[in-house]
Order: sequence, then structure tokens, then C-alpha cells
Amino acid sequence: MQILDGTLVRAEILSRLKPRIARLKRSPGLAVVLVGHDPASEIYVRGKIKACGELGIYSEKLTPPESISTEELLAVIDDLNRRPEIDGILVQMPLPKQVDSRRVLESVAPDKDADGFHPVNVGHLVAGRPAPRACTPAGIIQMLKFYGCPMDGRRAVIVGRSDIVGKPMALMLLHESATVTICHSRTLNLAGECRRAEILVAAIGRPGFVTRDFIGPGAVVIDVGQNRIDDRALAETLGKGDEFARKGSALVGDVNPIDAIDCASAYTPVPRGVGPLTIAMLMANTVELAEKHQSAANTRE
Ligand code: NAP
Repeated sequence: MQILDGTLVRAEILSRLKPRIARLKRSPGLAVVLVGHDPASEIYVRGKIKACGELGIYSEKLTPPESISTEELLAVIDDLNRRPEIDGILVQMPLPKQVDSRRVLESVAPDKDADGFHPVNVGHLVAGRPAPRACTPAGIIQMLKFYGCPMDGRRAVIVGRSDIVGKPMALMLLHESATVTICHSRTLNLAGECRRAEILVAAIGRPGFVTRDFIGPGAVVIDVGQNRIDDRALAETLGKGDEFARKGSALVGDVNPIDAIDCASAYTPVPRGVGPLTIAMLMANTVELAEKHQSAANTRE
């Protein structure tokens, strides 16, 4: 059983970015828009800004008030779209209820879409053309490559069909020539579908949902879930009793880690599995956008 360590893959991704950043005429620039004070979002944004600092990427955090209207937020994005020193824009989700999130995400210029969520870039992903890619699934592909887990011809099953993880994951695995099945809350015989998987990706948002009944012998199990739980009994069942005793809560994935370690050939733990890859791929998208912008500027000169 191999533990797939996301921190090693992140280090490799970041070390490959450093010489590319050094070759650029100016630092890549990333703007992060954080509306309101959602504690989880604040932690994610802090991690993103910190990663920029460590790599020498210029970053800017914009914090409009919680009460902002859709129109006002569109004006903020419009301004960022026009600024030449900003290569990538990220709008931290979720946005407050009064804001039309779809309109805001679609207002980001596709060539500044650091998260790869714009429909134009989703279209490029479907067509297999280069464009910013959704960071979490792109990181998972890097992880599978890093550890030499074959995808070509393998049966891959993804549980979850969200726009940010499940669907782009399916397309990326398809482009790697896996045979892909997407499961969701209406799938019949979910455990049976999952047991057929040679690569099983769980992106559900339900703590410890994937148990040994879902894992075929020797499967590679990728746990995308990040769930903070305050149920002591569940934490103990998932082998997180010590963490619970220290913190009064525990961070768990969508997969029961004890079952995964028993049944899988490789498994991404939570934390230190998929989590570290998301920010690394955000940095990769930002550098790629900066390269594109600077080479377009060089051609114009
Ligand atoms: P989401 O938008 O809530 O989507 C969850 C998906 O799971 C949906 O497609 C849903 O099916 C499916 N699902 C829910 N209950 C199910 C059930 N009982 N059986 C089968 N399928 C079920 O979540 P998400 O944004 O994709 O995130 C998924 C998890 O990944 C969360 O824990 C999130 O925190 C984590 N995450 C981690 C990272 C990271 O960097 N590590 C990044 C993003 C997300 P329906 O479509 O039928 O409702």
C-alpha cells in the first residue's frame, strides 16, 4: 500500500515553476477577490497569497464588503481584467447570496481565469486544447503521473459531478485515455460501480462515505473530500480520535482511511493528499497565463 503524499508532488510542481518565473520580464500577478469574512475562505486565501509570496508571484488581495452588489463586483472584475500587471484573477467562492456567482465568474476574462472555471476554458478542456484547468483535478493528474500510476486504458470511477471537481476530473482522465464512469447521488448500485474502479476518485463532501465495500482489490483511491467533523464517534471510526481529543474536531476525507489502507494499492490521505495540489496548480495556471501575456506583448513590440 502506497501513501500518495501531496506535499512531495506540490514541491515538485513548485520547483518546476521557479525557473519559468525567473525567465519572465516581470513577476506574474495574481488578484484574489475575497468577499466577506467566511472563515474557511479566509484560510484558503491566506494559503494562496502565501504560496505567491514564496514563489515571487505578485499578489493582490481585494476584500469588498459582504454587502456588495453583483454590479459593483462586476466593476471590480472589469478593472482587474484591464490591468496589464494582473495575469490571473481568482474569485473565492462562495459569494454572498445577493451576488449572482455565475455572472461574476463569467465576467473574468478567459485569459485571466486562474481557476479554469470560465465556460470558454471548460470548452477548451472538453476539446483537449491548452487553457487554464480546474486546479484540484489538474493536481490529481500530476499526482498520478508523479507516482507512475497508469491511467491509459484503466477503469476510472469518479463519485461526484460538480463543475469544480467531478466533471473536469472525468474529462482530464478521459484525455489520459482512462475509461471513465461518473457517479452521483442518483447512481444505482454505487458501491458496485466503485468496486470496478482501478482508479477511484471520491469528491462527494461526505465524511468517510467510501468504505471497503466501494474499493476493489488494489484500486488507486483518491480522496478529494475535506470535511471538518465535530462528531467524536465518527472521528474515532475514521481513526482520527487523537486529533479530535486535541482539537475538538477532526479533518476527514470522503473515504474511510482504515478501509482504504486495507484494500487499496495507493491512497491519498487527508490532510497531505490532494489538498496541497490545488494551490500548486493555481500557481501553475498563473505562471502559464503570465507567460502567454508576456509572449503576446513581445510579439506586439
Ligand atoms: P459538491 O459540489 O457538493 O458536489 C458533491 C457531489 O457528490 C455531487 O455531484 C453529488 O451528487 C455527489 N454526492 C453527494 N452525496 C452523494 C451520495 N450519497 N452518493 C453519491 N454521490 C453523492 O462538492 P465539490 O465541490 O465537488 O467537493 C467535494 C468534496 O471535495 C468536498 O468535501 C470539498 O470540500 C472537497 N474539495 C476539496 C478540494 C481540495 O483542494 N482538496 C477542492 C475542492 C473540493 P449530485 O450531483 O447528484 O447531487
